[in-house]
Amino acid sequence: LHQILTRLGESCSVQDCTIMIKSVDADGDGDSAVGKSNLLSRFSRNQFQLDSKPTIGVEFAYRNIRVGDKLIKAQIWDTAGQERFRAITSSYYRGALGALLVYDITRRVTFENLKRWLHELREYGSSDMVIVLVGNKSDLANSTREVNIEDGQSLAQLEGLSFLETSAMENLNVEEAFQSMITKIHEIMSQKNL
Ligand code: GDP
Repeated sequence: LHQILTRLGESCSVQDCTIMIKSVDADGDGDSAVGKSNLLSRFSRNQFQLDSKPTIGVEFAYRNIRVGDKLIKAQIWDTAGQERFRAITSSYYRGALGALLVYDITRRVTFENLKRWLHELREYGSSDMVIVLVGNKSDLANSTREVNIEDGQSLAQLEGLSFLETSAMENLNVEEAFQSMITKIHEIMSQKNL
């Protein structure tokens, strides 16, 4: 699954909120490696790995993000594909408030598969889940691009999503993608609390 899911923690108060960010991997359909781990590690630690991720274990990281006058603690989990063998059920999406839906602009198949994941998010996720469409690996746009920026834009428009192209490698738009999702989640939460 090409997604980075976000959940607000239990300890949410006016002054500070915990947001859990968790990477969800493909369940064996062979088109992972869109860059989820690297987007998370770029966002949390400003690091990029050329090679694949660690094979075992869960990575944790924390980052503080400012939204208006509030400091939000993002707790970041990368489960390194351990969900691969687990059936996807609605419990997976329970409480998720946001998702970065990530595809790889150099592999058309990852874009074609988005509709399926979008359908699943809509079916199991909450109706006001904030979904940001992310076309990753924009640093390869001039050499091996298979998905035009216009394709991303029109899908986003059709489905009512925000859209960005990112490069985890060159640190382009990564901050913006997370910030945009978290800011929107916060707006929705604040409206609900009014
Ligand atoms: P995941 O399986 O979706 O978590 O993908 P990874 O983060 O493990 O990345 C898969 C591969 O793509 C790795 O070899 C990364 O080095 C590479 N990669 C990830 N992001 C980028 C990017 O923005 N640009 C380029 N050129 N390669 C990337």
